[in-house]
Amino acid sequence: MTIRTELLADPAGTTDPTDITTSAAGSVLPSGSVLIVGVGGQGVIMASNIIADVALSNGLDVKNAEVHGMSQRGGMVTSQVRFGAEVYSTLMEPGTADFVVALEWAEALRSFAFLAPTGMLIASSQRIIPPAALSNRVTGRFDYPLEGWTDPRALRVDARGLAQGAGDVRAAATVLLGVLSNRMPFPVKSWREALKRWAPVKALQANERSFELGRGWRTAEAAPAATKTGRPPELETTSSVTVNASWCKGAACSICVDVCPERVFVMGPEGFAVPANAQRCTGCNLCMKLCPDFAIEVAAIEAGKPKTGVSGARKEVRNG
Ligand code: SF4
Ligand code: SF4
Repeated sequence: MTIRTELLADPAGTTDPTDITTSAAGSVLPSGSVLIVGVGGQGVIMASNIIADVALSNGLDVKNAEVHGMSQRGGMVTSQVRFGAEVYSTLMEPGTADFVVALEWAEALRSFAFLAPTGMLIASSQRIIPPAALSNRVTGRFDYPLEGWTDPRALRVDARGLAQGAGDVRAAATVLLGVLSNRMPFPVKSWREALKRWAPVKALQANERSFELGRGWRTAEAAPAATKTGRPPELETTSSVTVNASWCKGAACSICVDVCPERVFVMGPEGFAVPANAQRCTGCNLCMKLCPDFAIEVAAIEAGKPKTGVSGARKEVRNG
């Protein structure tokens, strides 16, 4: 017995059930499965603890299984929360998740198979691409996947942007919990109390604001707008790349030319690295970390600022 969207207290997210035993699910205690996915450091575990806490505080049996061993290597982090009158297994089968909550778009796609036909994907449109996943020395370009972007089961939320507005971009997971809370048969009071128990004390206010922004989010706001490249605006390039030419060793080094998974750099005719394909930059920061001369700066694009360039007077070409 699992909770399907027709059993949800309010699939549209406009009312708040105060008693789950008399909600739209009738006198039958709700049961269901929620899969939470993301990459290390995004708050997957805290989000799953909050969902489990909410179900527990409403008198349900809960089982929670986490996989986070690879989180320090850019790998995915997942957590499965199953709840009901009695839960026998910690793990869910593909095609059975009532909700998939994804903190990163590629991880959302990876987890699509777990979604039940009547389930709902609540996904952040943020992209965090591990450098190792980008290398394609043949084509030189890894294009971020867009499949599933228009799937009717998917809600795409600018969770990072909303969390930033709430004061802390790290609270993006809490924005998604706010969206989820509107669609699950538990009173909002349970969510707010669980948030107080699990959010870091220093970031509680930002998390509370993020949760309320998530609750106020409506589907219509996420309608993808056409762009000149045909890509949804959430997946447009967001990073600028600058090389300080006076610090660059040039062809004696070439590390950035070799390591950039997106082939952003070329060795320019004047003997220093040039970010000739900066529009491909995914902001992975690999070049900035590996440049031995600290000559590269990768930064978020700000309105009105140039997207790429070369700075610093070129005095000489050093040979290492
Ligand atoms: S890694 Fe740094 S020093 Fe080396 S070529 Fe690139 S910018 Fe120049
Ligand atoms: S330019 Fe630097 S930050 Fe951008 S994709 Fe290449 S390695 Fe990553």
